[in-house]
Order: sequence, then C-alpha cells, then structure tokens
Amino acid sequence: MNKKMHFNSKVIHGGQILDKSFGSVMPPIYQTSTYAQTTPGGHKGYEYSRTHNPTRTALENALASIESGKYGLAFGSGLAAMDAVLKLLKPGDEIIATHDLYGGSYRLFTKIFETFNLKFHFVDLQKINIIKSKINKSTKLIWVETPTNPMMNVIDIKAVSKISKENNIMLAVDNTFASPYLQNPLLLGADIVMHSATKYIAGHSDVILGALIVNSNKLEEQLRFIQNASGAVPGPMDCFLTLRGIKTLAVRMERHCLNAKKISKFLVDNPLIEKVFWPGLSDHPNHLIAKKQMNDFGGMISFIPKGSSYKNAIKIIENLKIFTLAESLGGVESLAGHPASMTHASIPKNVREKSGVSDSLIRLSVGIEDYQDLIDDIQQAITY
Ligand SMILES: *Cc1c(COP(=O)(O)O)cnc(C)c1O
Repeated sequence: MNKKMHFNSKVIHGGQILDKSFGSVMPPIYQTSTYAQTTPGGHKGYEYSRTHNPTRTALENALASIESGKYGLAFGSGLAAMDAVLKLLKPGDEIIATHDLYGGSYRLFTKIFETFNLKFHFVDLQKINIIKSKINKSTKLIWVETPTNPMMNVIDIKAVSKISKENNIMLAVDNTFASPYLQNPLLLGADIVMHSATKYIAGHSDVILGALIVNSNKLEEQLRFIQNASGAVPGPMDCFLTLRGIKTLAVRMERHCLNAKKISKFLVDNPLIEKVFWPGLSDHPNHLIAKKQMNDFGGMISFIPKGSSYKNAIKIIENLKIFTLAESLGGVESLAGHPASMTHASIPKNVREKSGVSDSLIRLSVGIEDYQDLIDDIQQAITY
C-alpha cells in the first residue's frame, strides 16, 4: 500500500488486497467459524474466527490505514474496544479521563472497572495544570474524548500527549466524534485511538462495531491477546458493512461538515436560540485549537433554546420531522437527541450539569440531507 495516499484514496484502497480466488473487488464475507487444516497446525493463517477472520483482517487493515497507524483491531462494539484497553491495566492503577465523557464510557469506567479497583479521575482536560495535579506513580492511562459529547469541547491532544510522554503514561483518544477524516490522534502523539465505528466510520446506522488503532508492536500484541482471550469480536457481516461504510467516509464527512456549518449559522442568527455549541464558531472557547487540530469542524451541534427551558427543548425535539429523535450519531440521516435523558442519563444529575449538560440542551447529529431542508425543519420546530 502506498503510505503517501491522500485520505480520499485511503478510504477506498487503504490496507486492501485484491481477493486471490476470484478477484472480487470487495473482500468476501467469510461467514465461517473455523478453517480446515491439512495436519494439526497446518493452516493458512486462520484457524478459528474469534482469533482471526479474513473479512475482519481486511477491515482491521483499512482502519489502520485511515488512522495513519500500523495496526487496527476490530471489536464487537465501541465499548468492547474500550473494555480491552482497560484490561491492559491492573488493580490499583489510576486513569485520568475527560469529565464530559460519553455516558456509556462513564458507566463502563465507574460501574464495571471501579469494582476491579481501577481509580478514575474525571477532570477538565483542557486545563493542563489540573491533569498534572492528578498524576502520581499509579497513573497509567489518560483517556481523552475530543470533541466531547455533547458539549463539543476540544482538547489539545498534542498538549496532553506532551504530559503523558513526560510521565510515561499511556494516552488513548476516543476519536468517534471527529472520525479519522477530521483528525488522526496517533499523529498528534496518542498511543491508542479508539472508535465507536458504529457512528461515522460505518456511517449508515446499521451496525455496532468498535475499533482500536495503535503503532506500538507491544501494544498490538497485548491488545490482540485480550481481543482473543476476552472474545468481544465483531462478526464477518458487520466487518463487511463497516468496510463498505469506510469507502464513502470522506465524501460523507465533507457534507456533514458543510451542513453543520450552515445549520450552526442559522441557529446563531436565530433569536429563539440561546446558545450554540459547534467548534467551527469563532466564539467557541476552543475554536483556535479546533482549527489547528482538525481538518474541519464536524457534524455534531448542541444548542439551548431561548429561556433555557426543559419544556421548550422537549417541544422542539418532538416537533422535528426530518431529524429523527434517536440515540446514536454519525449516520447519513439527521438525528436529534436530549442528552440529559438519553445518552447521558447514566451520569448523576449534579455531575452532568457541572459539565454543562443541562436539561435544556439539544444535540443534533447533522446528516447528509439537503441543508436547506434541515434548516426549514428546525425553523418550523422552534416556532412553537
Ligand atoms: C457511541 C459511543 C461510544 C460507544 O460505542 P458503541 O459502539 O455504542 O459501543 C463510545 N464513545 C463515543 C464518543 C460514542 O459516541
């Protein structure tokens, strides 16, 4: 593979090899659990599909390529991928994580791994001094999500990686919201990139899948061991769907970003809207870091209606016709959600509100429809 390929080409060709049997242009769906051996151990690199599967290998190579990494590993979900990362740690180890984290990540950390005696510090990772104050000799991992969900804070990955390197701490970045189109954390100093490929990477709201991408041989070996030993692997059909999604990632992201730009401008200019959170807005607190770190500003927008009323927020969400009220994000269709009662319901109210996730906050995953139709839909929804 030509490592110098541009992103638009990598999504089509990255890590892919032509099928030797029939020359099929897409990797076949190897829907098999096991592989014939000529003599015990005499196989062609595949013996059991929890360990390896050729469709999964094709996906893992594609994932590594689009994240500019050496190794990709696919998992049954984004959370299964995170679960594998946490299993690199031992009881007593400490983790510093973004405070306005995806609700499911927060639940995995606090409800599962705290009971195995991992200790989590949830802090504002925009503040380097706060990170430094939490580091001690047990600190083994810094977990960054950027842009954050749903407040769209942008964390300076390079700045955090400088501290992590100085202190010999592993840095993992949940790159789900940005997608590899907008930023490649490995190039900014991260050790592990994690994706809920369920979202932008697969992109069609038809598959649940997770991914890890790393450069270090040792990390790859450890994670590959956990992937096989714990067994949270995706099936070949889901790998195929994700591979198909990746082909259009660049063109989809281009449109997601354009539509979000148009919609955020409409919201900012609208007197019925109190506040808009989108990293592309020049008054967004992290706009300059976003501009430096990301190729564009993404398709996720949050906003608060005038008067910050919970009732009005719910009314708007219910009035929307093209935007579907649903969990998740990153698909071709536009979705609207109410983080406080949906994606972030598992975070205690006081913790949630401290990071800005108020009851009046609406989150949009802007799809790739015509932006004027989306704007008209919001317009009719807010004129209640
Ligand atoms: C959805 C999501 C996850 C979890 O991924 P699943 O595929 O649903 O398990 C993790 N992080 C972020 C930012 C997400 O949006």
